[in-house]
Amino acid sequence: MSRKTILLLPGDGIGPEIIAEARKILNWVSGQGRISLYLEEGLIGGAAYDRTGHPLPEETLIQARQADAVLLGAVGGPKWEPLPYEVRPERGLLGIRKALDLFCNLRPAKVFPQLVDASTLKREVVEGTDIMVVRELSSGIYFGEPRGVETLANGEQRGVNTLVYTTREIERIARSAFRIAATRQKKLCSVDKANVLESTELWRAVVMAVGKEFPDVALSHMYVDNAAMQLIRHPRQFDVIVTTNMFGDILSDEASMLTGSIGMLPSASLGERYALYEPIHGSAPDIAGQGVANPLATILSVAMMFRHSLDLPEMANRIEAAVNRVLDQGLRTPDIFQPGTQKVGTVAMGDAVLAALS
Ligand code: NAD
Repeated sequence: MSRKTILLLPGDGIGPEIIAEARKILNWVSGQGRISLYLEEGLIGGAAYDRTGHPLPEETLIQARQADAVLLGAVGGPKWEPLPYEVRPERGLLGIRKALDLFCNLRPAKVFPQLVDASTLKREVVEGTDIMVVRELSSGIYFGEPRGVETLANGEQRGVNTLVYTTREIERIARSAFRIAATRQKKLCSVDKANVLESTELWRAVVMAVGKEFPDVALSHMYVDNAAMQLIRHPRQFDVIVTTNMFGDILSDEASMLTGSIGMLPSASLGERYALYEPIHGSAPDIAGQGVANPLATILSVAMMFRHSLDLPEMANRIEAAVNRVLDQGLRTPDIFQPGTQKVGTVAMGDAVLAALS
C-alpha cells in the first residue's frame, strides 16, 4: 500500500471550516486500504502572520516540499488589510505558488445538472457547460518587474505593474493545456489581447507553434474582452481555455457564476514537481465562523488531488459521484439554496458527502 503525505493549510476565514470537511474525506479514503495518507498541518496567510510575523513561513515551504500534495483553504481578511503589502496574507499564496513553481492552474467550471437553476443565468444558456480553464499561474502581470508605487518629482504618484512572458513560460502552459484538451473534446481556445499587448502577441505566436505538436486538437484564439462576453452568451462553445495569469483569474471567476456558486469550484495548481489544490474562492470573511460555508469546492479539490497527484482516478470519480448524490438528495448550503431543497450547514454537508461515499 502506498503511503503519502498531504499538507493541509487551512489559512483564514472559512478556510479552517472547509478544510475540516476535506479532512473527513481524506481520512475515509485512507481507511479504505488502497492508500495510507498522513495528514500534516501548516500555517499560511493571516494565521501564519499572527503566529510568525510572515504569511509564508519557511517551515511551511519545507513541509510543502516534503509533502506529496498540498491542500489549501483560503487566505486573507479585513483584519490584515492595513498590513504592508509584502506581509499581507495574499502574498503567502502568491509566494507558495511561485516557490513551488506551480505554473499550471486547472479550474474546471462544470455545471451540475441539479444546480442549473442556481445560476443567475438562464437554464438554456448554462445547461451542459463543462469548461476547463487552464490559467498560467507563476508569471505574467502578478509577478512582473518593475512593480510598485513611486512618487514623482511633482509630488504625483505613479503605480506600475508589468506584464511579462517568456517563450519557455508560454510553451509549458500551452503544452499542459493541449494535453488536457486531448483527453476531452479536443478543442482549445487561447485567450489573449494580442491586438494591444505585445507580450500576448508573443503568447499567441508561441501557442500556435506548440499547437503543431498536437494536430488532433482544434486550436482557436479569442481576445479576452470577447471571451468574457462569449462565456456568458454561449458557454457550451468552450472545451478548454488557456490564458494568462490575470485573464485566467478573472475569466474563471466569471465562469464560476455559470455553475451557480463560487463555493462549487475546485482547482489544481500543478508544477513539474509539486502540486497544490484549493477551492477557487477566497476566505469569505462575511460568512466566516457561521458554519454556512459550502465545503464542496474543497471536497472536489480533494478529488482532483486523487486524479492528478495520487494516481487514484477511481477515487476521484467516487468523490465526485458522492457530491452528485448529495446534490440529488436535495441538500444545499445557503449559497446554492433554492426553494424546495433542504438548507444545511458546512458540517452537515461534509457529513452527507461522507455518508454518500460509504
Ligand atoms: P471570496 O471568494 O472570499 O467571497 C466572495 C463571495 O462569495 C462572498 O459573498 C462569500 O461569502 C462567497 N463565498 C465564497 N466562498 C464561499 C463558500 N465556500 N461558500 C459560500 N459562499 C462563499 O472573495 P472576496 O470577498 O473578494 O475576498 C475575501 C478575502 O479572500 C480577501 O481577503 C481576498 O484577498 C481573499 N481571497 C483569497 C483567495 C484565496 O485564498 N485563494 C482568493 C480570492 C480572495
